[in-house]
Amino acid sequence: MSTRQIIVTGGASGIGYACARHLCDRGYSVWLLDLDEEGLKRAARELCLMGRTTTLSVTDEEQVEAATAEISSHGAIHGLVNCAGIGILHPMVETPLKDFRRIMEVNVVGTFLPSRAVARQWLKQGSTGAIVNISSVSGMCGSSGRTAYGASKAAQNSMTLTMAQELGPHGIRVNAVAPGPIETPLARAIHSPEVRAQWNARVPMQRYGDPAEVAGAVAFLLSDEASYINGQVLAVDGGFVHAGLRH
Ligand code: NAD
Repeated sequence: MSTRQIIVTGGASGIGYACARHLCDRGYSVWLLDLDEEGLKRAARELCLMGRTTTLSVTDEEQVEAATAEISSHGAIHGLVNCAGIGILHPMVETPLKDFRRIMEVNVVGTFLPSRAVARQWLKQGSTGAIVNISSVSGMCGSSGRTAYGASKAAQNSMTLTMAQELGPHGIRVNAVAPGPIETPLARAIHSPEVRAQWNARVPMQRYGDPAEVAGAVAFLLSDEASYINGQVLAVDGGFVHAGLRH
């Protein structure tokens, strides 16, 4: 069993929580960073992570730096899962600037800051590690309502490629998992019945994914089994993003 430390942002709910559960089951020492204090308490109870949760915003540079330093004082950090994210859908012409900025701040800056913090630790210590960014198929195709969300997810994919290029020579791998529709509180909040029906019809597997199905891909990319995989964006979407005609 491994006792490697993994940080999961957004780990109080949905995909992040599923990643935390999956990684705990495999013997990793998981640390959760999230805004949601109550959600973190619940997750800590359920996953036996007492003392390994921090309430913070991934957009706050000081808080992210302090949490990373604290975790690192308990031992080497093996990996980071950037899963904290928000989604607000509007048609492009109705998108308020404050929503656009908020989405970019949480999804893009909130991926950059934890990644920079752990990468600095690894470079300083001469150690290696792996980062997995949770982006979305919305960063790979043009679904309505996602001007800001899609741009933020495409930015995460782009950062994945650049970080892989810059950090690869140091033995640090950076990949992304781009989920399709996954049954989580976020999806339940922003997918109308019409949107749900469309996903179920257009995803070749004709269903939503379970958060655990994303967690499996994340755990693989963090593991030594993926030791030569770097700079990839892996769609976990039942075949949606590359689907063609159906007869
Ligand atoms: P969720 O709402 O269940 O979980 C998101 C978590 O992020 C919450 O616990 C929330 O408190 C936390 N969070 C939000 N803003 C934060 C901040 N500023 N600082 C720290 N924590 C913050 O959502 P989810 O569906 O599990 O989404 C997780 C990630 O997966 C997101 O990046 C989302 O864009 C992505 N994603 C989700 C789906 C889907 O269908 N559910 C599809 C593609 C991509």
